[in-house]
Amino acid sequence: MSLPIFGKGRPRKPRRTVETTPRIGVGDLQGAATAPLSSFAREATISILVNGKPEAIDVMCDLRNYGGDGQRYFLCPTCSRKVFHLYLRDERLACRRCAGLTYRSQHTKRRGLHRVRDLRRKLGASEELLAPLPPRPRQHMAAAKYDRLVAQLVVAEAVIAAQLRDTVVRVRRRLKHDRYRDQDSNRARTAG
Ligand SMILES: [Zn+2]
Repeated sequence: MSLPIFGKGRPRKPRRTVETTPRIGVGDLQGAATAPLSSFAREATISILVNGKPEAIDVMCDLRNYGGDGQRYFLCPTCSRKVFHLYLRDERLACRRCAGLTYRSQHTKRRGLHRVRDLRRKLGASEELLAPLPPRPRQHMAAAKYDRLVAQLVVAEAVIAAQLRDTVVRVRRRLKHDRYRDQDSNRARTAG
């Protein structure tokens, strides 16, 4: 089948992100693992079926910070890093980094920043986020174009501002979580 080609270059492949890739969480094991949770040694090898084929995955138990069963991690089969999730990529399980995955928000943020820079360039303004804009031109057509670009810029910068706010909230939550964990508390038993 031949289709007319518009534009140049190959069609863009959708990027693989954390959100679009199947994964297994260490918390999902509870039902799936044959051994009951408490009988896990500090380190155990379990078998996970990947497309019908068993794959041996190491699970580690970290007893230092938690009471009860301890905090469990997968050891990434590729890099041996301790992780909460393994992702299915090319019929293999691997950690987020080894699977080459990023978060979707990273892409949208980058795209948004490109757009802001683009609009600012057209306005003849500094490309820096939220930097002041040049005065509105007097000439009618130029002023109309200016208004249109400014309206688009306001929306684009508001989106970025919201994303930055989300990031700050996430980081704060993370810091709080780590603080609780360091206090050797059982309250913070959240596996993310
Ligand atoms: Zn890895």
